[in-house]
Amino acid sequence: MQEALFYSKITNGQVQCELCPWNCILSDSQTGICKVRTNHGGVLITNVYNKVAALGSDPIEKKPLYHFHPGKNILSVGEVGCNLQCSFCQNHRISQCKASEFSGFHNISAEKIVKEALKTWNNIGIAYTYNEPFTFYEFLLNTAQLAYSEGLKNVVVSNGYINKEPLKKLLPFIDAFNIDLKAFSNNFYKKYTKGKLQPVLNTLKQIAESQAHLEITTLVIPGLNDDIVEFKNMINWISSELGESVPLHLSRYYPQYKLNAPATPIETLVELYDVAKTQLQHVYLGNVSDQERSTTYCKNCNAPLISRNHYNTDITTLDADGKCKKCGTYASVII
Ligand code: SF4
Repeated sequence: MQEALFYSKITNGQVQCELCPWNCILSDSQTGICKVRTNHGGVLITNVYNKVAALGSDPIEKKPLYHFHPGKNILSVGEVGCNLQCSFCQNHRISQCKASEFSGFHNISAEKIVKEALKTWNNIGIAYTYNEPFTFYEFLLNTAQLAYSEGLKNVVVSNGYINKEPLKKLLPFIDAFNIDLKAFSNNFYKKYTKGKLQPVLNTLKQIAESQAHLEITTLVIPGLNDDIVEFKNMINWISSELGESVPLHLSRYYPQYKLNAPATPIETLVELYDVAKTQLQHVYLGNVSDQERSTTYCKNCNAPLISRNHYNTDITTLDADGKCKKCGTYASVII
């Protein structure tokens, strides 16, 4: 049984978890909204320490990260649980499952995962992904610290729903993040994720102010988060608060879980891509076959630097130092 980090004991045996913006107050035997942290006799425990639900090697492009070691693989690990409840969740079988009801766990220690990462072909490190990694915070932190000491890279793919202090403790060990910005409307967050927008914006700013590499993903859902005015506001915010070089992935939605609206029309994605490109240097379409809008272009001379066909990556016009071979401009790509 592993005691959780970031909580305080309050009156009558209750505890308050301080890991994420819910700040759940839990009586004895009660489990938090994330379904994986329980008050056990006045001690907050994590139910998922060392409990791996999924482990496999993926192309880094699948996270998606397009500006972080393109063409490399990353050992990817996930558990169960999530602190949001998105009605369109693409991984709901593990994200919305209680730890106590999941039968597919493998007991794997941080040491074993690091060993596996060190011997995996073409592998740069470990990605914490599939479900919400912040809900297995203690296992994530310990594994990331060990991986860091072995010279491996750590990548977190997350909804960004975490409090400031836990993120601060984690940041020195994480090299890259892909954070979902699901919409630029608190009403959307409230109605379709049960969360709030502002904590996610806070997380994005905290990461952007750190040394870690940041990319953002927005799943575009027709009629729910594709309003042009709202989208322009989001692009303005990213550009002014995080910087115009932060890559943005616009992903095509397909019906999933509780949402059965039809898939996003390609025209909608192209329209939003064009809007985003007016202010951001690097915008990509995901979940579609569109080589032109999956290519990384030089921000100075527009030469195609890295072309992609699904997860096949071709580094065409980028030198080993990360400079455009045509004009010598540094691309914001970590090689
Ligand atoms: S991590 Fe889980 S238990 Fe802790 S505040 Fe968030 S939802 Fe509640």
